[in-house]
Amino acid sequence: MSVVLQAARPTAPTVPADVAAHALPAPAASCLPALVGTGLPVPLVDGTTVAHANLDLAASAPALRSVADRVAALLPYHASVHRGAGYASTVCTAALEWARTTVGRFVGARSDDVVVFTRNTTDALNLLAGAVPGAVLCLDVEHHANLLAWRGGEHRVLRAAATVDATLAQLRAALEARPTALVAITGASNVTGEVLPLAEIADLAHSHGARLVVDAAQLAPHRRVDIAATGIDYVALSGHKLYAPYGTGALVGRRDWLDVATPYLAGGGAVVRVDAVGDGSPAEVTWTAAPHRHEAGTPNVPGAVALATACEALDAVIDEAAPAHERALSERLDAGLADIPGVRTLRIWHDAPDRVGVHSLTVDGYPAALVAAYLSAEHGISVRDGKFCAHPLLARLTGWAEGAVRASLGLGTTAADVDRLLAALRTLVTDGPGVAYECVDGRWLPTADGRDTDPLGLGIGDEVTGAGRSCGH
Ligand code: PLP
Repeated sequence: MSVVLQAARPTAPTVPADVAAHALPAPAASCLPALVGTGLPVPLVDGTTVAHANLDLAASAPALRSVADRVAALLPYHASVHRGAGYASTVCTAALEWARTTVGRFVGARSDDVVVFTRNTTDALNLLAGAVPGAVLCLDVEHHANLLAWRGGEHRVLRAAATVDATLAQLRAALEARPTALVAITGASNVTGEVLPLAEIADLAHSHGARLVVDAAQLAPHRRVDIAATGIDYVALSGHKLYAPYGTGALVGRRDWLDVATPYLAGGGAVVRVDAVGDGSPAEVTWTAAPHRHEAGTPNVPGAVALATACEALDAVIDEAAPAHERALSERLDAGLADIPGVRTLRIWHDAPDRVGVHSLTVDGYPAALVAAYLSAEHGISVRDGKFCAHPLLARLTGWAEGAVRASLGLGTTAADVDRLLAALRTLVTDGPGVAYECVDGRWLPTADGRDTDPLGLGIGDEVTGAGRSCGH
């Protein structure tokens, strides 16, 4: 089915004077590490080109320049890991184990914690789910990764209350009511950016005999995660949200459960010894300890080194420069959004002790997917729209059928990016979109869209489509 929304105005939008007047001083970003792809030219639907304003860092952040350089330096040494005697092989093995130590140090791992490399946060939480020796308790505000991973075992989902204090009281009551092995909590919401008091939750869990795993997919790129100092037992994170490329994440934490759990992946590298008895019975296997117990098969060495290199670079700015940069931009965005009629921002807890640069909003009268399509097609601004893999929370905050728009900020974001978003939203609510859009199979797209989707020359179709996306993402 195709629904066409006609353009309400014929010309490209301009930056309104009141948005410009709103401008706070631009935060200094010069001491922050540089990203690959900054200023990428992107096509607009009117045939012109603008520098990309990437406000979708919470979904996936471009790699740091230092990460790209390190991976390029490593690739010539490509060789087998852990089992090769060749020189390049020893370089790769040392690099992988350096990466393990570096990632552990970045999150404040205790000396006896393990760092298991995984594909991403989802993988890390699923790995832990296979190791938990009892019931899991989580909140309904979680990303699906931290909601669904636990379904194979005993688990409970608590509806978060309207304040952080009340939510902690509910957690306490739930822990008192039934034995719990693990509390699984997000470090920062991927919908509102709100941060929970992790040290307090760790104390709460421990005082009831439970452990705490923090889904740090959104927290680690923005704030120092220190598992030893806060008492967190496990942390899960994704490299591609931490300014490294796709494909590597980590689970970091206490060794005992991981040392005895069924290996997450069975195969080479995870064993001490395999004896084939030859009488038709299965081979006798002596599994090795964590982390290798859960990392069978050839590891993603460039991915691990990329993640560790990003951790190294972030380590220098995560305490002050990066949060200060992001807070200034968040304040600028919040102030601007509050001034645009019909724009509503989503919050779970107004009393959250901190908030990272993740801002979700709705625009009265416009579906979220249309707002996102308009921002991309007419302004070269990338945001995320939908339900952000947090369906229960979005159903609560916006109603089941609706989604929201999410703008997320980080190292590469500038005040100009924020101002472009504010100007574009103001134009939308004041004048409507500049071109007609149609809803095709649940995706809003400009009715006439000549943008080239194949700048790499891969020979793929030349339409900007939502192929591969489902409406409920
Ligand atoms: N947890 C949170 C809070 C997230 O925001 C995300 C991704 O958006 C995930 C988990 C899953 O991360 P990944 O897709 O890298 O496994």
